[in-house]
Amino acid sequence: MSSQRIEEEIVKLVEKAGREVFGDSFDDVRKWCVVRKDVSWENAIPKGKVANVFVIIEALSRLLIRHEQESTDVTEIPTPLGFNVPAIINTKMQAVVRRTMLAILHEWFNRNKKVASKVLGIEQYGCTLRPFIRREKGTGTPEETFTGYCGSCPNCLIFGYAVQEGAGYNVKSRVEGDLYVATLPSDKAIVPTTFNAVDDVTKTTQMPGMETGALYTYNLIEAGTLFVGKISLRDMTLSELLITLVSLARTSRIGGRQTHFGEIRIHIPAILFSTYEVGSGYEIAQTVLSSVKGRPTIENVVNKVAEYVGKFEGQGILVQDRELANKLRTMKRNYLDAVVLQAWKEVLLFKTSLDMYVGKQS
Ligand SMILES: [Zn+2]
Repeated sequence: MSSQRIEEEIVKLVEKAGREVFGDSFDDVRKWCVVRKDVSWENAIPKGKVANVFVIIEALSRLLIRHEQESTDVTEIPTPLGFNVPAIINTKMQAVVRRTMLAILHEWFNRNKKVASKVLGIEQYGCTLRPFIRREKGTGTPEETFTGYCGSCPNCLIFGYAVQEGAGYNVKSRVEGDLYVATLPSDKAIVPTTFNAVDDVTKTTQMPGMETGALYTYNLIEAGTLFVGKISLRDMTLSELLITLVSLARTSRIGGRQTHFGEIRIHIPAILFSTYEVGSGYEIAQTVLSSVKGRPTIENVVNKVAEYVGKFEGQGILVQDRELANKLRTMKRNYLDAVVLQAWKEVLLFKTSLDMYVGKQS
């Protein structure tokens, strides 16, 4: 197939994917999305399009949510109701969604190397989440591949990246997060749980030469706890929007010690496509906390989100569908393949447009 034929096919498949996800609202959503067909400095200018994505995180197992590695405290925030509630800060959430997107991109690239080469001109793909950049021995320059963020894939141009000083420009994330606030007070949501490590020699938890045994306690978030928050997606094309939403919906773990803890399910009960950022998870959590007696169910929280976003109808295109996240999770593989390819094409146009805007010769 010629590149042009492939590209026409891809556009059709992305539209089918979008129609399946957004149903009757699809035509409006498509019109709302940014169009990026050619390299132009105009692509670098903010477009004032904000998709406000309302998210419920359901704990399917116990979660270990804490500020830093060594702390045993659950991250908590105060409420005006006189008690604290657990909260998940956005850096934790963004990191796991980003990891999910990277996995989708690598899996796609491994199956589609020929297409990647033909349509995108990419022969190698080594983008990874890495806290440091490895340098070639004896030189100051980073290794050609596997140097952390690649700076030219959907992950990098949607979630942003930073470069070493003097090595070009940083790109800001177009995904902006909120606080994910629990809809249950801390004293009901947190369970202190004690574990032990057994010494293989003494067959006890008493470690030789130690006063105390090898017992340790984690404060865990109880399974079933529901958190509510919002993500703003800025200036996205249809394919960028879809790949970001699929990555969000398919994120299945969060927090520390993910071998044992942290299984979650994402619900996306509403999206408001607007011109500015609207709403906050903190406000929605407060309405749940002040009106639902006992442990709120997913239905309770979905209904509160619906009530809350209903106030913003008329400020944009409001899509309310409690099956949205499920539709994204189960998107057909050929649809998702097309979404990935189209998003990749469009981020490359974005990148070249940014280069042009900052006056970099490429
Ligand atoms: Zn990358």
